[in-house]
Amino acid sequence: MKLKGKIACITGAGSGIGKSTALLFAREGAIVVVNDVDKNKGIETVQEVAFAGGKAVFIHADVKDPLSVKEMVEQIIKTYDHIDILFNNAGISGVGRLHEMEIRDWNKVIEVNINGVFLPCKYILPYMIEREKGGSIINMSSCIAEIGLSNRASYAATKGAVLALTKSMQVDYAPHNIRVNALLPGTILTPFVESYLKNSYDNPEEAVEKIKTRQLSGELGRPEDVAKAALFLASNDSAFMMGSPLYVDGGVVFG
Ligand code: NAD
Repeated sequence: MKLKGKIACITGAGSGIGKSTALLFAREGAIVVVNDVDKNKGIETVQEVAFAGGKAVFIHADVKDPLSVKEMVEQIIKTYDHIDILFNNAGISGVGRLHEMEIRDWNKVIEVNINGVFLPCKYILPYMIEREKGGSIINMSSCIAEIGLSNRASYAATKGAVLALTKSMQVDYAPHNIRVNALLPGTILTPFVESYLKNSYDNPEEAVEKIKTRQLSGELGRPEDVAKAALFLASNDSAFMMGSPLYVDGGVVFG
């Protein structure tokens, strides 16, 4: 087991990639704190983990709300004493060209996708530093941070910011033996992508076929593909990776 006894907090673990990662981390021996803003989804993940024989607990928090995140972290520390792994996974989509966008829609994406990474780090890092046993932080970026896609500028801006933040964070926290790396998935078939396709295209099936042609793999990714990469970054297998972007994109960047 690669994460035996480790305490891992995964934000947005009620669905898609976060849920799949919660299941995998628990299978590898971690006690998983399943966070989500959606209570039902979060509890469903915890039940699935328990059904598979793993350990998980749900803590409701909105990652863009400082008080909510602070309370979540305090609850984790009170129960488990420390946190070894933080996976900043929660995120929302943002669509529209900039000149057609309202500032409130722009801010919504920024708040969840950037503030929602900043806040868990802000409140968890002091405990990781104080404990002097290091830790692993995984930030969810996206391959869109590096390639241009129409209609997605606000979302791309947040994922580029997360990548830049990851590198700077690594410099600041390397002296404390805390590794900070980023995941850059391509198109992964999750509820997030399904609703994006449904809302953005008249013919979502046709859109999927078009996306497939842009990937060297010829297929869309699965949440498990990203969960395995998250496990690698969370575990000691990636001990020499610091501030690194890890692509899980079926070759889309190079296609
Ligand atoms: P998803 O919609 O299936 O899951 C996201 C989860 O985050 C949901 O359960 C949602 O309730 C939760 N969430 C949303 N806002 C939250 C908040 N304020 N506080 C706490 N939880 C919140 O999405 P997914 O596809 O699994 O995406 C997960 C992450 O991966 C996101 O950051 C996304 O940007 C990123 N990503 C996804 C893809 C993809 O193709 N699916 C590609 C690249 C990056």
